Amino acid sequence: MGVPEDEHPAVVDKLFRVVEAAVSPVDTVVVFVWDTIYRVGDGHEPYRPNLIPASRSSIQGLEQVTLDTDTSPSCAICLEDFEQEPITRLPCRHHFHVHCIVQCLEISHMCPLCRYPMPTEED
Ligand SMILES: [Zn+2]
Ligand SMILES: [Zn+2]
Repeated sequence: MGVPEDEHPAVVDKLFRVVEAAVSPVDTVVVFVWDTIYRVGDGHEPYRPNLIPASRSSIQGLEQVTLDTDTSPSCAICLEDFEQEPITRLPCRHHFHVHCIVQCLEISHMCPLCRYPMPTEED
């Protein structure tokens, strides 16, 4: 799921160490570094693209399902077993706890496992 905001300094730090270790080609490295600084600094969050929430109606329209035998026994978001909590299935056939996937869809409309796009308000 990309690099958390608070790890960006560490990533940039590591990047510079890699650049310092690099001998050639210098021009390519400089372009790469500038591009990265630009992209980190301009607010586009390059590590977390497409953070468009799913539409309210698509979140509310999630149907509760029961586990069937070909379903993974745990939720890929919280890694807990499904057990008794409400479960839903996205159109891509991935299962999640309802409360887990709702939290995700309110941030990004894409399935956390396969990036299947759910409807957004713009659709
Ligand atoms: Zn969960
Ligand atoms: Zn999926």
